[in-house]
Amino acid sequence: MAINFDDYPCQFCGKKSTNFVFAAFVCDDPECIEKARIERGGPGGHMKRKAAGMPIIPEELEEFTDKE
Ligand SMILES: [Zn+2]
Repeated sequence: MAINFDDYPCQFCGKKSTNFVFAAFVCDDPECIEKARIERGGPGGHMKRKAAGMPIIPEELEEFTDKE
């Protein structure tokens, strides 16, 4: 799957994103990456999402992996 980063600004500062980490598009600023990590819930965050009844995989990726 090709991700066009031009379509996704950094979720925290609005600059052009260069990374997709912790289910968030972020720029290359370590502060933004850290914010993404915290927002995701840190290590084990995906288990919290599961506990909250939220999909572990971001919707757009889930759609991609759902094909059999
Ligand atoms: Zn940023």
